[in-house]
Amino acid sequence: MDQVSEVRSRIDIAGLIQEYLPLKKSGRNFKANCPFHNETSPSFVVSPERQIWHCFGCNKGGDCFTFLMDYEHIEFPEALRMLADKAGVVLKETQFDKEKTSKKERLYTLNHLAAEFYHYLLTSHDLGKDALLYLQKRGVKPQTMKTFLLGYAPKTSSALVTYLIKKKGYSSQDIIDAGLGTMRNGRVVDFFFDRLMFALCDHRDNIIGFSGRILTDRKDTSKYINTRDTLIYHKGLTFFGFNIAKEAVKKENQVILMEGEFDVISSFQEGITNAVAVKGTALTEDQVNLLSRFTHNIAVCFDMDNAGQMALKRSIPLLEKKGINTSVILVPEGKDADEALKTNPSAFKQAVKKAQGVYDFLLTQASKNYDPKSAEGKKAISDDILPVFADIENEIVKDHYLHQLADLLGASEESLLREIEKRKKMAIVRAPVASEKQQKTREERLEEYLTALLLQSSLENDLTSLIVPLQTVYVWAKPSYEKIITRLRAFWEKEKKFDQKAFAQSLPEELIASFDEVFLLPIPSFEDKTKYEVEIRRVVKDLQGIYARKQIKIIGDAIKQGEKEGTVADLQKLQEQLSYFVGLL
Ligand code: ZN
Repeated sequence: MDQVSEVRSRIDIAGLIQEYLPLKKSGRNFKANCPFHNETSPSFVVSPERQIWHCFGCNKGGDCFTFLMDYEHIEFPEALRMLADKAGVVLKETQFDKEKTSKKERLYTLNHLAAEFYHYLLTSHDLGKDALLYLQKRGVKPQTMKTFLLGYAPKTSSALVTYLIKKKGYSSQDIIDAGLGTMRNGRVVDFFFDRLMFALCDHRDNIIGFSGRILTDRKDTSKYINTRDTLIYHKGLTFFGFNIAKEAVKKENQVILMEGEFDVISSFQEGITNAVAVKGTALTEDQVNLLSRFTHNIAVCFDMDNAGQMALKRSIPLLEKKGINTSVILVPEGKDADEALKTNPSAFKQAVKKAQGVYDFLLTQASKNYDPKSAEGKKAISDDILPVFADIENEIVKDHYLHQLADLLGASEESLLREIEKRKKMAIVRAPVASEKQQKTREERLEEYLTALLLQSSLENDLTSLIVPLQTVYVWAKPSYEKIITRLRAFWEKEKKFDQKAFAQSLPEELIASFDEVFLLPIPSFEDKTKYEVEIRRVVKDLQGIYARKQIKIIGDAIKQGEKEGTVADLQKLQEQLSYFVGLL
């Protein structure tokens, strides 16, 4: 057995996934809400028998390695290493020689070297003196600079590039690919230039990029620039400070979302260690997915100017869908968090404790922003809030807030509900039609279901004979299902019993994926064997009906064509075929 198979055989997939998601027993399998797409009813299935997982919502699936790779955004070598550790398998060195380390890992290393380089310049070099002074003025302590690995990118045009090429032996291409260098006049120069540097990490402590801030207010350039998208850095996938806050987030079961780097740093220095900064304005779905793996309680601490409130409102539907409790921290005296923490830390901490539920917050804000007594004010408030309240997932909570809103507006709840309905209809008209997922045809769905029924019943009964009617009149849309069923019949005939492991092993490689999918497909439970058989017969009949209708159309067209052109030689035969298919309906 090779080492990959050895690791796979020693890892229990349900146990592994259970460490990341709560799994619920469901028959022979486990179920959960899929971590890879948003859903409220679980279509993510884990099979201990097959040692695989599959999501029937987004069609992702695989074994323990692919789960870890998708979940942690890592590549195979790293997943193998992590699982080998867990399984107590000592990997042979040769599999990991440096030549083979993936591009991603090389980019992590480059970013790490860059962070150390910038940090050294900031804390120990003359070039970083102004930057250091700037941080000291803003009250950042030496230990904090170390914890967050703050740094300084110097004014010279290629200090970092020179260091990485000459001292560390990296190629210009690697440096460009890592987002640390850029081509100018035919040579590679530093991407960041005279900026205070904030390292951006993923939740596994890999440095994936940087955010650079100017030291003096200048009009000719943006205050912050970030690493452009690279193989390892994607805008909207991470938070500043998440790697540092992660443990505190788990412990306190809450994360505080702030706007900027300095908000997080000042919080950290005041002992509020579960805060992270959102890079960009509104939260993205990826960010919400990441947070929801650590906590379901999010307190938002944005500047509550218009932009901040808009960002908050745009984020709410995503948070709702993930079942997250969202609250809002009102920064004392409306300052930004960094300033408030410096002028009055204890008032700020009070505000954190008194965070208000997001819907209560929106109601309070709306009644402050508009006059709920005037007609225009009422319209503005309902335009503002009704769409948000309409999307509340929990009906009881929704009802509670609609009631509150009705009270505020002096309107009836019924009129609010009517308004929601009206908006929904308009939204449907406007909604984009194309969904990303490829839709299966009705035939394909029925074939899949039928194969699942036969295969899953095989654990107790051989019902494959019920398929006989399809053998004479049906052409499968997905031949792989037909092949599986044919093999299943043969297997029963030979073995007189079913063993899913032996059966799977008897299948050719190209059928395994289809087999796993139908073996895991959730099917309804039936009272007894008779009901089960009735269901199979019904599906067989449905499939034949679909096929017969198609044939009738084809033959009908051929007859018409033949009559028109006067080529009636086969007419008799066609008519016979036609009545045969009509008889099947
Ligand atoms: Zn999914």
